[in-house]
Amino acid sequence: MKIKRVICPIISLAVLLSVFSIRSHADEYQHETIKYDSIGYSVNNGEPIRGVDISSVISLEKSGVIFRNENGDQQDIFKTLAENGVNYIRVRVWNNPYDKNGKSYGGGNCDKYVAAEIGKRAAKYNMKLLVDLQYSDFWADPEKQTVPRDWAGFPLEWKKTSIYNYTADTLRFIKNGGANIGMVQIGNETNGFFCGEKDMNNICSMFSSGCKAVRDFDKSVLIAVHFANPSTGYYDYYAETLNKCWVDYDVFATSYYPYWHGSTDNLTQVLKRVADKYNKYIMVAETAYPYTDDDGDNFGNAVSKASKNAEMRYDVSVQGQEKCISDVFKAVAAVGEKGIGAFYWEPAWIGIKGKSYNESYEIWNKYGSGWATDYAASYDSSAKSAGGSSYDNQALFDFDGKPLESLKVFKYIYPEKKIELPTEPKSDSAIKFDINGDSQVDIFDAVVLKKALKSGKYQDKYDLNKDGKVNSGDLSAMKKYILASADNANDFSEVKRTNSKK
Ligand code: CA
Repeated sequence: MKIKRVICPIISLAVLLSVFSIRSHADEYQHETIKYDSIGYSVNNGEPIRGVDISSVISLEKSGVIFRNENGDQQDIFKTLAENGVNYIRVRVWNNPYDKNGKSYGGGNCDKYVAAEIGKRAAKYNMKLLVDLQYSDFWADPEKQTVPRDWAGFPLEWKKTSIYNYTADTLRFIKNGGANIGMVQIGNETNGFFCGEKDMNNICSMFSSGCKAVRDFDKSVLIAVHFANPSTGYYDYYAETLNKCWVDYDVFATSYYPYWHGSTDNLTQVLKRVADKYNKYIMVAETAYPYTDDDGDNFGNAVSKASKNAEMRYDVSVQGQEKCISDVFKAVAAVGEKGIGAFYWEPAWIGIKGKSYNESYEIWNKYGSGWATDYAASYDSSAKSAGGSSYDNQALFDFDGKPLESLKVFKYIYPEKKIELPTEPKSDSAIKFDINGDSQVDIFDAVVLKKALKSGKYQDKYDLNKDGKVNSGDLSAMKKYILASADNANDFSEVKRTNSKK
């Protein structure tokens, strides 16, 4: 059933946001309308950020997870998210999440290749990308900020140079893959330590290297720093220290998990102090809430009704989950013009239904779709053995991959521009540069050709320059084509036009 949207009437200037409860469904399911009044065009073309982090999605798809639309039909999850109002995708990036034998640590195998693929698929549906650079080979959070294996043992100055070069290289690669990078996060939940350093001055100087690389990459890209838990009482200290050290950033971002991180009133107050005093944008980079106590993947969940040390502020239900998300968006909007939106964390991290524990275990190890593989222990001592998702009960998709009603929450956060979703391109074997057959010509075609040249396994169609041979000349032809059409490499009709000239 389609739900009618209600747009807020004119709002008093004294009121920073307006909230109306609307009755929409015959079953009394309610969506709240939330309005952000004064976001500048430079942030997200004037729209609040309605984001999700789906970093594990490529691994999940490879594992056999099927995502569906509202009717239960299989559909590209990026399309489903865009149809439900999501306009920003966040992706974590680890330096090298593989052991010395090339075995992945899991957690989505989130290296720059995975990030580029996610960025490209997001761009297809007009969604921007937040690149969450963690400067670690695996999970970085308040518990651990392990230096990348290749950087271990080097002095601070060496690490600063490496951070600059790594940041520049990674962003170039992701952009060349077709992503529309809107924001870059320098570090993830860097509460008091980062990239193996604990001294805040050292941390700031490393942040600055990353920030400089982003500014040099593209001045229109927003730079975010990110901390976890606004109820710690440390946010004023972090913001003050960043200011004293002249760290050049735009967005002060926080993780806010309502069952661990205090009230939304406190969230607003803490972020508003930073926004007002230091003139920074603020946002929630991660939030989540359970809709069920069930487990869908044979791996225990982080939070349930019975959890100790968790303050369950809402019903554990689809409606309770949506209420939580709405409250987070309201809390950010209440900061005023510097509040720019929020990201929901891993709303699609589900398992494959009907698998036994042993079958699931094999899948986690093979595709990296669980939080860790057996190989992660060599880098992360907390990863004793492979495991799945401890957040599948907090997803916005049910265990069959069908969107929950709560996913629609993003449709009610305004203002919203009408975005034309692209129609699915038709396949056409005459498109010679589209080697991997995904109806786009981009860096991924070049990767396929390069691998084919290396292995010697190729077909006649790889003779792109029509000289009767398949060799590096064809790779050059492709690179030339991609560079020449950088702005419209994703435009199928452009590919046809160019080919018809030859
Ligand atoms: Ca689970």
